[in-house]
Amino acid sequence: MTIETLVENPYIQAESGSEVSVPFDQAEFDANVMGTYGRFPIALDRGKGCRVWDTEGREYLDFVAGIATCTLGHAHPAMIEAVTRQIQKLHHVSNLYYIPEQGELAKWLIEHSCADRVFFCNSGAEANESAIKLARKYAHTVLDIEKPVILTAKASFHGRTLATITATGQSKYQKNFDPLVPGFHYVPYNDIKAVENAIADLDEGNQRVAAILLEALQGEGGVRPGELDYFLRLRKICDDTGILLMLDEVQVGMGRTGKYWGYENLGIEPDIFSSAKGLAGGIPIGAMLCKQFCDIFEPGEHASTFGGNPFVCAVALSVGQTLEQEDILQNVQQRGEQLRKRLRAIAVQYPELVAEVRGWGLINGMELAAETELTSIDFVKAAIAEGLLLVPAGPKVIRFVPPLIVSAEEIEQAAQVVERVMAASAS
Ligand SMILES: *Cc1c(COP(=O)(O)O)cnc(C)c1O
Repeated sequence: MTIETLVENPYIQAESGSEVSVPFDQAEFDANVMGTYGRFPIALDRGKGCRVWDTEGREYLDFVAGIATCTLGHAHPAMIEAVTRQIQKLHHVSNLYYIPEQGELAKWLIEHSCADRVFFCNSGAEANESAIKLARKYAHTVLDIEKPVILTAKASFHGRTLATITATGQSKYQKNFDPLVPGFHYVPYNDIKAVENAIADLDEGNQRVAAILLEALQGEGGVRPGELDYFLRLRKICDDTGILLMLDEVQVGMGRTGKYWGYENLGIEPDIFSSAKGLAGGIPIGAMLCKQFCDIFEPGEHASTFGGNPFVCAVALSVGQTLEQEDILQNVQQRGEQLRKRLRAIAVQYPELVAEVRGWGLINGMELAAETELTSIDFVKAAIAEGLLLVPAGPKVIRFVPPLIVSAEEIEQAAQVVERVMAASAS
């Protein structure tokens, strides 16, 4: 099969799928798949650009993008080309051998970030887990700390493995999974005094703070951007003390904020950072990147069977190159401004419903007013009924994370749906 025949696939060419219906049995699905997710009652079947169609043939504008993951939207020609080319050549071997595609992707990442070295894995949680392991080894072998503590923020989100739910400063993700992993301590986000106090308080006996792990913008915890002054002062503290500054870029990295990495909005460079969601545009991948001075893992100390296989690396490289060639970061900045302006105008119209609109680039949140009974989940349900996919970020924040290729018309269309749902909610 050639790439051309794939691109001509009728499923991905469909502009309106109203006549297409695919059998889907929800009861059977629920009987077979674990109930770990609270799913919206639609089943998605195909997509193109910023649009997806469900099994009934209904069309949706996709402002979720697989939760900030489908960087280039659905069925992008560059991804189809990379997937097709690489699957025909070699898709998986093992890190027993050199993988040229992995080297090329690492080179691209290093050229487009502050990092000097990359480790590849398969998900955001694993990338953070890698960073946590690296920080602990650094604490033991370089900082000479017997009981290292990692500071993380309240309302953060770092993943679902045991170490990353522990790092996550939200008890709802930890409940019933204790005993948690020792060595974590939480501080309020954007509060430098709290960090200074924690560093002082935790310095006793053979225990000390070894690393600070934060999101550049808290995504899941409510789309809360990091403050410039806070991060500048954090960087200074870490420089003065040797504490590692680690950023979780899983949601905001790879162009989502209008810059390649979230930290570029904060005037600092981290020592270690993680990436995953948007890195390969929706093909599973994770990466932990670091500066040369903390590249201290030795052979056998950390590994991943699938990590950095030829297939995912070829796709991620095509996503990165497409971001560059098509000047997509500029689109992210312009479309982001357009969206915030439109949402802020709606907020002014409905002050009893909307408290604030905030975000960077194409990760934006609309926080509902504390007084209203309207919740983010109610709002998202109403938007889905109007043909717009959105995702909550906590009980009161609605998150807008469309593909980075979203057009001005699509932003306007989404804003009109938000307006309609607001009007209905106000009445
Ligand atoms: C989604 C997310 C994770 C977890 O990523 P997975 O791929 O689901 O393991 C970690 N950190 C942040 C900031 C995220 O948004």
